Amino acid sequence: MEIVGSRRKSSKSSAGDTVSTVRLYRSAPELEVRLEDFELYAVHRLRVLKGISDGLSRGKKPNEMVDLVDKLWKVNMMHSEAHEVTNKDIISHFVLRLVYCREEELRRWFLSMETTLFRYRFQLEGSEAQRALLAEFDLPYKAVSNAEYESVKDKLNQVKSSTGQSGSSADTVYYKVPFEQVPDLVASRRVFILKGYAYVAMNQVVSLLMTQYRSHLSKALVLTNRKWTSMIREQEKDRLTPIVEALSTSYLGPDYSQPKEHAEISLKDIDQVAKNSFPLCMRHLFEKLREDHHLKHGGRMQLGLFLKGVGLNLDDALAFWKAEFSRKAGAERFDKEYAYSIRHNYGKEGKRTDYTPYSCQKIISTTPGVGDHHGCPYRHFSEENLRAALSKMGVGNRAVEDVMDKVRNRHYQLACTLTFEAVHGVSCDEGINHPNQYYSDSKKVLESRKNTCLKNDLKLCFCVMCFSFLPSQVSH
Ligand code: SF4
Repeated sequence: MEIVGSRRKSSKSSAGDTVSTVRLYRSAPELEVRLEDFELYAVHRLRVLKGISDGLSRGKKPNEMVDLVDKLWKVNMMHSEAHEVTNKDIISHFVLRLVYCREEELRRWFLSMETTLFRYRFQLEGSEAQRALLAEFDLPYKAVSNAEYESVKDKLNQVKSSTGQSGSSADTVYYKVPFEQVPDLVASRRVFILKGYAYVAMNQVVSLLMTQYRSHLSKALVLTNRKWTSMIREQEKDRLTPIVEALSTSYLGPDYSQPKEHAEISLKDIDQVAKNSFPLCMRHLFEKLREDHHLKHGGRMQLGLFLKGVGLNLDDALAFWKAEFSRKAGAERFDKEYAYSIRHNYGKEGKRTDYTPYSCQKIISTTPGVGDHHGCPYRHFSEENLRAALSKMGVGNRAVEDVMDKVRNRHYQLACTLTFEAVHGVSCDEGINHPNQYYSDSKKVLESRKNTCLKNDLKLCFCVMCFSFLPSQVSH
């Protein structure tokens, strides 16, 4: 794959030649890629893989996963030019191989998400396309002969009915496969096993293909890593390397550098808004600032940029931080030591860059030191402190257990999503990816609730848990 600056040759591959749209990505394509597409296509595929990861962590069932993958693929992987759809698929896969080959943990994640993507895309194909893909694998297994089928058909029918599949096994083609090659079918007891062989029905063949696909991709990732470390990283240090290194931690959601909806937060409301609509990371920093009248650099950056993103203007930001810091350090010291960095965050000093609020990914990956209060509480708090903080936010016992379960499995953003759902009483299908998204989603929920009440002339009650007005029938 050759990367070019701005010109593009047409791709040699042709989507019309292949019945199946699912690729095996056996070798890197011979086509030129514009630098912009190199990054953009990878970001789009990453959105699909992250969506799959969220769906799996939320415990979605296989039929829900099929719908999810179908939707994610259509939203992210289409292209205005039909012939580019295939190129986009292939290019994005190979770019992400480079991105995710570099560490064991990255490799594991990519392997698992790509295999899942393969599985559900295969299921979305028609039977003709599935058969064409099956032929491409050139599997060394033969269909079970009639004589052998007759000798085991009762067992096969038993398995079929015990797994809720209707009809007899007579019309089904079976393959005899070493049982370790279909671990998911064995684990869920969906195959008959005899003398070390599993009898895999045609409609279960995807499991077999997944094992092959996974094994091929796993080896390819190790080889790509070798090439990356021995050659590509250095050769491409001024061009591709920075893009590749940034992609695995890049934030893929909307830009929160400027307040958009529900803009402007005034100082007189800030305490109430913090209680209602700040995610736990910002709520914690806010409370610590009010308590200690000081925050270390990491905390000032994390909270300061968040507040800028939710619409606190520069004058109010200076007044807000000064009111707290001057209680401990004095007004003069604040003006000398701290005011500069606040103006700096708003692009009024130094390089005049308008800095962007931190995403969850960035916050989760920081390592707070002693006396720091920044970071993500779901990752950085002890279990005891996290439980106490959640209960202070009004999260019920059952929801707390669900949150702790996600934390134990290191799904911190999902833990935050469950907290949002428990506090606001609505589901948040997209999941939380950014503290400013948590804030704006929260404001939307609270505002629509208020509007519904006003429209229906419902009585509003002041809730002491969340410090806002709620319809009288809604409670925490
Ligand atoms: S998941 Fe994101 S928004 Fe939630 S507490 Fe952690 S960093 Fe903040």
